Amino acid sequence: QLFAKAYETEARLAADMPVIKARLFANENPFGPSEKAKKAIVEALPESYMYPFMQLREFASLIAKEEGVSEDHILLGAGSSELLMACSYLYGANGGSIVSADPSYAYLMETAGTFGAKWEKVPLTKDYAHDLDAMEKRVTDKTSLVYICNPNNPTGTIVSAIKLASFCEVVSKKKPVFVDEAYIDYIPDSRKNSMINAVKKGQNVIVARTFSKVHGFAGLRIGYVIALPETIKKIEKYGGGGMNITATSVKGAIASFTDMDHITYAVGKNKESKDFLYTVLKDEGYEYIPSYGNFVMFPLKMDGKKFRDEMMKRGVGIRNWEFNKMQWCRVSMGTMEQMQLFAQAFKELS
Ligand code: PLP
Repeated sequence: QLFAKAYETEARLAADMPVIKARLFANENPFGPSEKAKKAIVEALPESYMYPFMQLREFASLIAKEEGVSEDHILLGAGSSELLMACSYLYGANGGSIVSADPSYAYLMETAGTFGAKWEKVPLTKDYAHDLDAMEKRVTDKTSLVYICNPNNPTGTIVSAIKLASFCEVVSKKKPVFVDEAYIDYIPDSRKNSMINAVKKGQNVIVARTFSKVHGFAGLRIGYVIALPETIKKIEKYGGGGMNITATSVKGAIASFTDMDHITYAVGKNKESKDFLYTVLKDEGYEYIPSYGNFVMFPLKMDGKKFRDEMMKRGVGIRNWEFNKMQWCRVSMGTMEQMQLFAQAFKELS
């Protein structure tokens, strides 16, 4: 198998689109890595004949300092997928069950399914957000993990940090809670809203972060989890630890991590594209789910697959979904030029 299951659909779409003008199907950041990151990557090249032991230590110590935890709370991965995969084995291989919202980012649950775990799907609320009360009720002795994606992919909704914090406090006493914060940098006060604060209070919460989104590192592959040291020791038996990360990527990540100017720039550009899209959708008489991420989900008025194929013919890649007996499009935010291409193709079809 050439691609990890997490990217099966995206990889197929990329292969099917020889002439791709607007790649809006993988929630990437089209503004790419920062200038500082690119410079650090180039400077790291001459020393890249050596294994990156020291660079990984430097990175872990920077994360520890910035997040306010000790290094034994951190596990590095080549993208967060490596760490989600490790958790899918740790919490899925002994026949447990994983409670999560549906739809949500399915990778951990689907992979755990291949190891024999059951996926306990809890529908979203009528506003397409996590139903934390219903999720709590579904936690039983058989549950091995609770997975929460905040902001949620594919709906872009968030749960209030106060509610999520009290959910983590109660539920983590019974079972580990995995909070996937891939898109957290797009929300205001991301630090205050992060469940890393729950880990710091000693709760059995695992927080996953990726550089693939706001940092623009999807092709450079950097991610990490923060959890209690005893949980990190269990996860690292099955993956992570940093030796799948290249010296160049890790040096780039060190430069990008505290580059607040670039983060502010990427978040601002994302908002411009999102506002433009909202206007297009409103003008064409479409509804949408207001999104806190770098993607927007909206209900279609035609078959989702047909819509995807027709958009593809016009050089615009999107993802289609079906849930709540409705057909949906999830479109990632591109540059303004790409959003205009989306709008042009969309108007031809709507
Ligand atoms: N978690 C979420 C919610 C995602 O949407 C993605 C990718 O789109 C990932 C994790 C995996 O990202 P990566 O392996 O690039 O860190």
